[in-house]
Order: sequence, then structure tokens, then C-alpha cells
Amino acid sequence: MRPSPATLDRLAAVVGEAHAIRDPAGMDGYMREWRQIWVGRSPLVLRPSSTEEVSRILAIADETRTAIVPQAGNTGLCGGQTATEAGNEVVLSLDRMNRILSVDPANNTITAEAGVILKSLQEAADAVDRLFPLSLASEGSCRIGGNLSTNAGGLNVIAYGNARDLCLGLEVVLADGRVWNGLRRLRKDNTGYDLRDIFIGAEGTLGIITGAVLKLFPKPRSRETAFIAVPSPQAAVDLLSLMKDMSGNRVVAFELIADLALQFSVRHAGVRHPLAAAAPWYVLAELADPAPDAMAGVLEAAMERGIVSDAAIAQSEGQRASFWSARELISESQKPEGGSIKHDVAVPVSQVPRFLAEADAAVSAFLPGARFVSFGHLGDGNIHYNISQPVGMDKQAFLDLWNGMNDVVFAVVQRFGGSISAEHGIGRLKAHRMTAIKPPVELAMMRQLKSAFDPNNILNPGRVLPPEYLS
Ligand code: FAD
Repeated sequence: MRPSPATLDRLAAVVGEAHAIRDPAGMDGYMREWRQIWVGRSPLVLRPSSTEEVSRILAIADETRTAIVPQAGNTGLCGGQTATEAGNEVVLSLDRMNRILSVDPANNTITAEAGVILKSLQEAADAVDRLFPLSLASEGSCRIGGNLSTNAGGLNVIAYGNARDLCLGLEVVLADGRVWNGLRRLRKDNTGYDLRDIFIGAEGTLGIITGAVLKLFPKPRSRETAFIAVPSPQAAVDLLSLMKDMSGNRVVAFELIADLALQFSVRHAGVRHPLAAAAPWYVLAELADPAPDAMAGVLEAAMERGIVSDAAIAQSEGQRASFWSARELISESQKPEGGSIKHDVAVPVSQVPRFLAEADAAVSAFLPGARFVSFGHLGDGNIHYNISQPVGMDKQAFLDLWNGMNDVVFAVVQRFGGSISAEHGIGRLKAHRMTAIKPPVELAMMRQLKSAFDPNNILNPGRVLPPEYLS
């Protein structure tokens, strides 16, 4: 139901007209996300500057049954942060709540408002000689409230865990406007249920995160980064074990890249091929604070075993950056190759090779000529299983196969006891997929949580749990 003009005026009054956007041109950037897949409409975008304002907004929204869509950096890939096309939902942007509240190097914590950009958090940690290890290609735009709400993963999960593992405390505004101040800086606190974890990964459906206490780590004093050619995904898995063992578990990144993915980066993003000759697969691996020449030792042992055919170890920060750009520009480089159907899946690390073989066979049977642009965080068993259209196929005809392709891939994922959304979340994109897959008892617990925390279903309705599922 569209909020009445009187309700919109009450909501706007909380933040002041200067921060309540009502004209379509002014709200355009809040209505569409970077892939332009989700483009919404809304009568109002609110930009509060404090927890107190968020609290007053939600109290009014709950009373008037106004749907609220929280938005942080607007880089989410599942449509959770954009209003629907119906034009009934009010967007609440956290972009003005961007203050770092305190940094405590001795306690290794940083406390920040939810709208702080991830890169700014990393820089604030760096300024006190500490590391905040969450790192994603979108880090210049995404904001910590969004990272926690999606339980973001990224490049260093293998060493430091995902966003959930990096959070000690939260401040959350509940659906009825009450504020829970759980900004605790404690490493140990077994005083009852862990409420913090309920809001992490909830994609704005249970409460609005307004602040967080995050863990900091010592900054690595040295790093070794290698771009490595391997004959197969199984060789890459074997290399991961070897590298962990031989380095004393110093592996902080371990990315798998299919040759076609690297070819796209070279062809379309101006990336320099890091090695002299092409190979079927590559690994981009990084060690932090390794023993002298640890990477060279691992690679030598791996070559003797036949699981590595060639490798280059970065000799400068520039070369390291160039290796990483080969990995980070893959998504962008797929665009000139036509349509791409994406899957963000996870299986146990040991099962990745069999998963890839079975998924490739199933997809080829479904669509002969489909091109596999698989890459991702092998160290976490998380593969971005992206499929580019066959050469010469009509783009729209290919994209029309999206659901059928998902059916084929997710069936293989399920055979391996995997996840259909390893790090990007559910949002609107996968809500029906999730309810079709999860066991009834798990879904019932989720529904009970939703009705306990948001009985009037005003927080991000339709995201995560489909609307018909709640009625
Ligand atoms: P938004 O997109 O604004 O919101 C995401 C969800 O959280 C929405 O459902 C929204 O309603 C909800 N939300 C936002 N703020 C709050 C809040 N304060 N309280 C409650 N709910 C809230 N993700 C990964 O995990 N790993 C990657 O490696 C990765 N790489 C990416 C690379 C690119 C180029 C892009 C564009 C995206 C990538 N992503 C990745 C996805 C995305 O960046 C992450 O999901 C990120 O955590 C979203 O943060 P955000 O601030 O943009 O949130």
C-alpha cells in the first residue's frame, strides 16, 4: 500500500526536507544498482544522520505500516536494497551515518556507524597500524552496515573469516523503533542468546543496523603473492593443502581462475597475462608474514609433484597489483562477451573439482556451446560459476534461459550438499529458490524469527522470505 501524503510528510520531517528526497531525478542513484537489473520506484528516500532519527522513522513506519528498504552502499547483487517497481516502499539510506566513533588499537577494535564505506574503515585501521581484513572488489562503495547485513565474504575469508567473524557488537533499531545498543567490545560474553548473529546476514529484514564494533588485526609485515598455472582444479586443491602445510598456515588468499576468465581480462580489461604461456587453470595465492622464500619452496615442491606447471612470484607492489587486477576485472570483462548467467555457489573445498566437472557436463547438455568463466575463492569452496553465452547466440535468447540454467546448476550444487548463495545473499533474486530448497523446520524457524522481530512486515518485505510465505 502506498504511504499517504501525511505519512510521507511525517517521515520527511524527521530528517528535514533537505535530506528527504522526493523528486525522481534526485533519487535516481538510490533506485538502480550497478548492474541495472533492479530499477525501482519510491515516493521518498530518507537520509537520517543519527540512530535517533532512524528510531523515529521506524516508529512512524510501524504505526502506519509503511514498508522500509534499508540501503547502505547499494552494491548488493540480489535486489535487496532497491525499492520494488510498485513504488510503495520508502528507502532509508545510511549514507550520512558515516562516522568512525572510536578506534582502540590495544583492544584491536574499531567502532563505526553503519554508513562508513568499507575502504574508509580499512584506512582508519591502517592509520593505527592495524588491519581490517574484509576486502571486496566493491570496497570503495559498499558500507559496513551492508557488509554485515549480507555477511559479506571476499578475498581474505580463508584467513580471517567473513563479516560475521569480524564483528563483536552491533547497534540495531528494531522494527517498532526501539534501539538495541549492543556495541560491546568484548571477546567473551556468554550472557544469553547471541542476538548479534541474528541481524548479521538478515539483509535488513529483522532490524536496521546503525553501528558496529569490528575486530582489528596486526598488519602483515610482509607478503608473497604468486600467479600459478595448474593443470586442473584437483591440482589446485592439492596445492592449497600443500601451501597451508608448508607455510605454517600463512595462506591469506587462494583464488582459482579458469583460463577463459583470464583470457577475458586480457582481451577486454587491458590486463597483462602474468605468465609466458596459457594453462587450463590458474591460482592466485598470497602468504602473509611467511618465512623467507616460503612461496618459492612451496612452488618447487608442487612442481616436483606435477601439480604446478609454471608460476610467477610478484617482485614488486606494482606486479602484485597487476596479478590482482587479472582476478578482480573478470566480472567486468565478461560484459563485452555478451550475456552472462551467474551463480555464487559453495561446496566443500575437497568437492570443488567434482562439482565443476559435473556442473560443466550438465550445463553443456542443457546448452551446447555454453562458455564456462568459473573463478572464485577456492580456499572457501566458493565458486563464482558464471556462464557466458555461446559465441554468436542472441543475447536475449541466452538470458531467457536464466531460470532453466539455474535449475541445472543448483541441482548439482545440492548433490554436493552445497549452498546456492555462498556470499551474495538471497534478497529478491533467490527468495523462491531458497524456500524450495531449505528443510521445512529451518524455514519455520526463519518465519518465527521474522514475525517476532517484525510482526507488521515493514522491514524489507519480500526479501529473503517471499511474501506469500509469511501470510
Ligand atoms: P547494500 O547493497 O546497500 O545492501 C545489501 C542488503 O543489506 C540489502 O538487503 C539491504 O536492504 C541491506 N542493508 C543495507 N544496509 C543495512 C543496514 N544498515 N541494516 C540492515 N540492512 C541493511 N560480495 C561478497 O560477499 N564478496 C565479494 O567478493 C563481492 N564482490 C563484489 C564485487 C562487485 C564489483 C560488486 C558490485 C559487488 C560485490 N559483492 C561482493 C556484493 C556486495 O558488494 C556485498 O553484498 C556488500 O556487502 C553489500 O554492501 P552494501 O553496503 O553495498 O549494501
